[in-house]
This record gives sequence, C-alpha cells and structure tokens, in this order.
Amino acid sequence: MIDLHCHSTISDGVLPPADLVRHAHGRGIRILSLTDHDDLGGLEEAREVAESLGMHFINGVEISVLWHERTVHIVGLRIDPQHAPLREGLAAMREGRILRAEKIAEELAKSGIHDALQGAYRYSQGNIISRAHFARYLVELGHAKNTASVFKRYLVKGKPGYVRHEWASLATALEWIHGSGGIAVLAHPGRYDMGKQLLKQLIEEFIQLGGRGIEVVTGSHRPEQFNTFAQIAQQYQLLSSLGSDYHGKGQSYIDMGSLPSLPTNCQPIWHDWPEYHQVSQQ
Ligand SMILES: [Zn+2]
Ligand SMILES: [Zn+2]
Repeated sequence: MIDLHCHSTISDGVLPPADLVRHAHGRGIRILSLTDHDDLGGLEEAREVAESLGMHFINGVEISVLWHERTVHIVGLRIDPQHAPLREGLAAMREGRILRAEKIAEELAKSGIHDALQGAYRYSQGNIISRAHFARYLVELGHAKNTASVFKRYLVKGKPGYVRHEWASLATALEWIHGSGGIAVLAHPGRYDMGKQLLKQLIEEFIQLGGRGIEVVTGSHRPEQFNTFAQIAQQYQLLSSLGSDYHGKGQSYIDMGSLPSLPTNCQPIWHDWPEYHQVSQQ
C-alpha cells in the first residue's frame, strides 16, 4: 500500500518522523512520502527508519502557495532536499510563519482569547508554527470540540484570528520543485474554498507551469469527491496521487492505510516509479 501525503512534528503532525514511519509500517504502507509543510527537516530521519523497516521512502514536501488571495497547497514528490533554491525558499517562508503566528495571537487577543502564542508554541514544540497549533490550543480552552470545528469559527477568512500571509507564488513553488528534480502535485483540490470556474483556472495554470499530478484519493476529500477528481485528472491527463494527509490520532479525518485504491480510470503518479515495480514484484 502507498501513502504519499502525511505530516510529522517537523510541521503540524503529532508524531515525530520516526514514529510516524513506524505507524505507517504498522498500517501496511510500503511506499511512503513524508510531506511536511514548508520544511524538509524530517526527511533524513524518516528515510532511515523506513529503509530499516524495508519500506520505500519518497522525499516530499507540501508547499503553501498564495493564489488569488487563497492558500493552496502544492505537494512536491521525489524532490532533492539538498537543492539550494528549495531549501532557502522554504527557510524564508518559515521565518514568515513566525511573524504570522505573532499576528494571529494579536488578532485572537482582540476576541478575548489570551496567551494564544504561548499556547500554540506549546503544541509546536520548537518546530514550525502553524494554524493547527493554534487550533489545538483553542480546543484545549474549550472554544471548539475538535480542530476541524475550530476552522469553521476561527483562523479562516472573515473569522477571529485570520491573518493573510504571503506564501510562495504558484510559479515559484513549481520552480523549486521542478528545479530539484521533483514532480508537483496539486494537493486536495476538493478542499479549496473556490467555485468551479476558479478551480478550473487553478488547474490550467498549474499545468501550464509544468504541474503533472493531482490528489484524487486523500483523507482531505470526502469519499464522494474521489470520483469527481478522478474524472478531472482524466480530463486534464494529470497523474493521480493518493495520500492520507495524516496528522496524528484525533487530528486527521482518516488513519493511514485505510483509504480505498485510486479509481480505475486514473493513471497513478507512481506508475513508472522503480519503487512501485519493486513492491509489486514482491
Ligand atoms: Zn494541505
Ligand atoms: Zn497536508
């Protein structure tokens, strides 16, 4: 089984890279990519553990992109973590996250929620700070029953704690990914708050910039969206990807190893990967 999208404590997941890989192994995953937000810091540890368990490990990253005033996620698979423009670009983005976290805390304070910066940093444990860490603090305070419901009432556009942030542009993110020898994948397209027309424009721009993959089966899609995006993948001749978007127990919609296979009309993004051919021969 394959999982090409998950998060460790290096970004906003709850398991350290080594534990995350062991969890994936226990859930039957044989080809795994770790795709932390804007950070490559977990790849070495994850690869070491994956290989010691006889799994195949794919270097990955999930880059936050600002596109038409919306945050869009682009997954880069088979990237080279040593590629300087990718490393340096992501380092600059992480610095921006620290400034954003300070502004989010100021905004939440205006709504009567205090000490959110300290609260969020307690959850990020010295790793990169994200809205998910604020969400966990808001759940702890009892403002919502779980992190998913936090994002209906806080931290998003028009709600307390929202701060606009300058992420990378779509073109820059794809340049970093392609420059490092990777394949760009449009992450969970069904999750974006945009109409059909704008989504079409996003997909077309992504393809023009050399993007080749799209997530079809993901823990961030509702099951009824799998076929919708399988059809879109087919229509645009995009390669289909599959990943849990696992962030840890209680944080994700779905555990690793429990997603269905890609619909049969999809061309899997891994169809020509040597790791896949090795696994399927076992
Ligand atoms: Zn994402
Ligand atoms: Zn993700």
